[in-house]
Amino acid sequence: MILSTEELDEVCPNCGAKLVLYTTANGKKMKKCSTSGWDKEKKVATGCTYVQWLRPGEYASQTQSGGEEFLPPEEPPLPDKEA
Ligand SMILES: [Zn+2]
Repeated sequence: MILSTEELDEVCPNCGAKLVLYTTANGKKMKKCSTSGWDKEKKVATGCTYVQWLRPGEYASQTQSGGEEFLPPEEPPLPDKEA
């Protein structure tokens, strides 16, 4: 698996920490809080759980609506068949 993270110039709306752009092995991208982690034993997220999945192309441009405080639940990765 080739995963990459890239620190963004954005801060987490939840805790104010830096966000990172995370690219999954499937090439999907998500913004997540840099304080977030994963407890492999308990299989639970640790730290801040803020995450925003990005649809292809969306990460190139900013979202249009600012000030949105909707916190998405932890979504599973989008299905690959969706194209
Ligand atoms: Zn956070």
